[in-house]
Amino acid sequence: MRCRAVFRVSQSRNRAPLLLQPQASRLYSQLQSKHERSTFGIAFDIDGVVLRGRVPIGGSPQALRRLYGESGALKVPFIFLTNGGGIPESRRAIELSDLLGVYILPSQVVQGHSSFKTLLKRYENELTIATGKGEPDLVMSEYGFKKVLSLDEYASYFENIDPVSQYKMWTTKWESSKCSCPKNLVPSFNITSDRVKAAFVVSDPVDWGRDIQVLCDILSSGGLPGDENGQQPPLYFAADDLEYQAAFPSERLGMGAFRIALESVFNRIHCNALDCVIFGKPNPFVFKNAEAILRQLRSSCDDNYINNGNNGSHPFKTLYMIGDNPLVDIKGAKQAGHPWFSILTRTGVFRGKDNHAEFPADLVVDTVEEAVDYILKKESAC
Ligand SMILES: [Mg+2]
Repeated sequence: MRCRAVFRVSQSRNRAPLLLQPQASRLYSQLQSKHERSTFGIAFDIDGVVLRGRVPIGGSPQALRRLYGESGALKVPFIFLTNGGGIPESRRAIELSDLLGVYILPSQVVQGHSSFKTLLKRYENELTIATGKGEPDLVMSEYGFKKVLSLDEYASYFENIDPVSQYKMWTTKWESSKCSCPKNLVPSFNITSDRVKAAFVVSDPVDWGRDIQVLCDILSSGGLPGDENGQQPPLYFAADDLEYQAAFPSERLGMGAFRIALESVFNRIHCNALDCVIFGKPNPFVFKNAEAILRQLRSSCDDNYINNGNNGSHPFKTLYMIGDNPLVDIKGAKQAGHPWFSILTRTGVFRGKDNHAEFPADLVVDTVEEAVDYILKKESAC
């Protein structure tokens, strides 16, 4: 396999403004109030730790509430560090606030594709393709990519590119909207002659068969389906999770499974092996980036803090990663090293009685509530 991980630390950028709901707005103003500086921070995985599908699990709402003071001010800097995604961070923050009952800032949401922002300079004005559930093209547009199309839309410009489309009972969002106002939605650039300069797998693909077909077309032709073989354009994955815990009782196939499927097919039909770059946990750069974001979060919450000589860059003594997937969350935290401390829950992918054999966590607990309880007790005793 020639796919490789990246080790870059992204600089956080301003995100789209969040439309505050009344309750959220009140809590936001309370976040600005005076509070004590935290010497520790927490990164929560989402699927299988705080949510299963859209249902809170493991006592997550009450666990998160303990990280805020009585006034509603954030006491402990924390972020959500997930390999999932498909919608902009600002929208995910609103969704999490609604489901978990605490106000989440967009800057507290780090998704698998958040690191794609580091590639903006390179592809800002180039034709790029984005695929995955949700709104992958909107995600990339909000990061600043100006010439990005969803794979749904891109494929629709190539007649018969999907030879089994007539047997499919569903239509894509793009196909439905195209029927209502085609002229307004056709891009100003020439799809059928412009070469795709990069393809992004933003979230779990919905139509694997079609996506594998079209990506093979793009990647083997040098960026123009139907053309002769050419040099493969870069391919980026937001994450590489083989499985993840969703609403169904057993794990579901994730982006890593799609990558294996695409790679297997591509390597059989093309002379050169598939080349791709993989972002997301467990790459150490994700944890370095998370540390930087937690530091910024602590600084921004410290506007009214009475300075004791420390500045915003003062290092954390401990950063806790709470996850359910040993191969992703625990492996990543262990690789990142100090100050990361890994906590494995039994509410998701991991269900073992003892610790994981290959990637043992620093602590194994039943639920996220138990994890937060442990952290707060340990930190208050320091
Ligand atoms: Mg998980």
